[in-house]
Amino acid sequence: MQSSFRALAGALALALAAIPGVALAQFALPPLPYAASALEPHIDTMTMEIHHGRHHQAFITALNAQAKDNPALRPDAVEATLREISKHPVAARNALGGHYNHSLFWEVMAPASQSGRPPAALAAAIDAAFGSLDEMKKRFDQAAITRFGSGWAWLVVTADRKLAITSTANQDNPLMDVAGIERGTPVLGLDVWEHAYYLKYQNRRADYVTTWWNVVNWAEVGRRYEAAMR
Ligand code: MN
Repeated sequence: MQSSFRALAGALALALAAIPGVALAQFALPPLPYAASALEPHIDTMTMEIHHGRHHQAFITALNAQAKDNPALRPDAVEATLREISKHPVAARNALGGHYNHSLFWEVMAPASQSGRPPAALAAAIDAAFGSLDEMKKRFDQAAITRFGSGWAWLVVTADRKLAITSTANQDNPLMDVAGIERGTPVLGLDVWEHAYYLKYQNRRADYVTTWWNVVNWAEVGRRYEAAMR
């Protein structure tokens, strides 16, 4: 399924490249780094299939449509454009945020058997900022559970190189230069839109949030922490 999708996407990119005036740099849906069933039982297969294949794909489709009139929307300038997203229409903010947020989300998860522990540098920073990993999780859970409506919870590295927990509405994220957003570089993000959990957890967002820690890819979060500190 996934490989035939990739083959189709590749063929489409080649076909588009052959048309004069059509830019080569199309946004493409990044493949999941594991099978859609790999996060069971914590996140169910159907949720992952719909979330990735339809919700994330919708942002890709929207970006490619908007990119025709907005040259800042390029796959190689996602973070740079997010950092000055206040210059762009809200449709770009929603679509580029949605693409960035979901791309990060897939990568900071892994099958429970591969979740692991925070690497040493990240673990030390968590202890310094929050006292313990458990206390960090407690505050992150609180941010995720109390985000009213749809949005995201984040662990970020702030401008003063410390870890902090924040949350954003809709598809906003801490890179955005938008009033009311606490800025930082995301190292971990959790989608708390209902589409991320409703099939399995219905209205029990708190159960989804606390169960989700089983599938956090700590090696990847540690890699992102080190990159943000460079
Ligand atoms: Mn989502």
